[in-house]
Amino acid sequence: MRAHLNRGELPGAASTDAVDRFKRLLHDRALRVTDIRVAIVKAALSRVGHFTADELVHDVQALGFQDPRATVYRAIPLLLESGILQPTVVSGERRLYEVAFGKEHHDHLICNRCGTVVEFQFEAFEMLQRDLAEKHGFRLTAHFHELIGVCASCQESERHAS
Ligand SMILES: [Zn+2]
Ligand SMILES: [Zn+2]
Repeated sequence: MRAHLNRGELPGAASTDAVDRFKRLLHDRALRVTDIRVAIVKAALSRVGHFTADELVHDVQALGFQDPRATVYRAIPLLLESGILQPTVVSGERRLYEVAFGKEHHDHLICNRCGTVVEFQFEAFEMLQRDLAEKHGFRLTAHFHELIGVCASCQESERHAS
């Protein structure tokens, strides 16, 4: 199992592809391509790691858009549907997102004390779940593994506290 670090901003071409994909989805939904919608995609693509919807709202605001909250919240389901973002932490009260476009698939270990999120790729999981899906006649389109526990440093502080 190897931890996988985020790669940061996508190269220009990949980012253009992502914006194009988003524009196609807007078109399919009869939604207009507005400056703020394009700004939301670009802000999302330049995010590194795992982030909340409100952090994205903040980024869009920093680009000079007034009160973008409602627009960002309405855009998130579209970003998920177009495969630009994926939900990361879906259990617990914190909901996080991350860029999926142009990124290798990975899953997450989550500390339920401090919220640390560790990314991992583990081919055996991937193989097992393909077998499992096949056995049940499923064609997999997505999956989210979230392994919840207590990280090493929280275990360490617990030992010192007791
Ligand atoms: Zn922890
Ligand atoms: Zn991740």
